[in-house]
Amino acid sequence: MHQLAPSSTVRKTSGKVFTHFAKEKRGRKHYREVLAPLQNARSPWLPATLGKWNVGADSYALEQYLFVGPRGGGDYVRVGVFAGIHGDEAAGIAAAIRFLHELAQNPEIARGYELYVYPLCNPSGFEDGTRHSRSGRDLNREFWAGSREPEVQLLERQIRTLRFDGLISLHADNESNGLYAFALGAQVTQHVVEPALQAAEKILPRNCNPTIDNFTARNGLIRKGYPGMLCAAPEASPRPFEIVFETPHHADLEAQIEANLVFLRHALDQYLQLQAVGQDL
Ligand SMILES: [Zn+2]
Repeated sequence: MHQLAPSSTVRKTSGKVFTHFAKEKRGRKHYREVLAPLQNARSPWLPATLGKWNVGADSYALEQYLFVGPRGGGDYVRVGVFAGIHGDEAAGIAAAIRFLHELAQNPEIARGYELYVYPLCNPSGFEDGTRHSRSGRDLNREFWAGSREPEVQLLERQIRTLRFDGLISLHADNESNGLYAFALGAQVTQHVVEPALQAAEKILPRNCNPTIDNFTARNGLIRKGYPGMLCAAPEASPRPFEIVFETPHHADLEAQIEANLVFLRHALDQYLQLQAVGQDL
């Protein structure tokens, strides 16, 4: 006879599964366990392993998840969402994973978009609880400079091949007391990042310091990038929009995750509106 589990053991894991890993001791969580909820063959997103490599006795892979939204008014807008390039920044990783689940629940968020999500760009660093990968490199200083790091090479290949219309990277800054963003392109800064920051600052405050991370900032916006950061290929033309969203690392983890999600939803929505206006001109 079929035995039913006592109701007390049937727990809804949705919403919890993404936070518990951050409470684990450093290095205790295997990166595959964190991505396991995304690997279901019947998921509404398409998983793809971009490549595998070994570090000593450990093997790693870079995983990509493609979610195609309902068709919008024009061509699909192709956006890459990158998290965990610094292995110790759990909020972005959790947010990227939860974002995929949100898309599954509400595909309208992705109307008009092809979203390529990379929740864990630095799996060895994640397992070690370090910013760097196990090679000792800060991967976010290695792009388009002939890097030999497998994570960087695999991501560069995808970025070059897919020719994104936009790239959004999720980070956490342990020296910032508020949200801020790097944003390239005047239109996108004004019409996409600013409103997305306004939405996110309902959850966590904005960092309004005149200098952030040694960059000149205005209202939490830094209008430039830096060498080696994850960005579009040097030859990309026209340049896609490029956004780096930073949450304050010491803030409550749930609040950081929520701020990331609100920022992502608003940025996508605003960019589509900007496109629609542009087409009317
Ligand atoms: Zn970072």
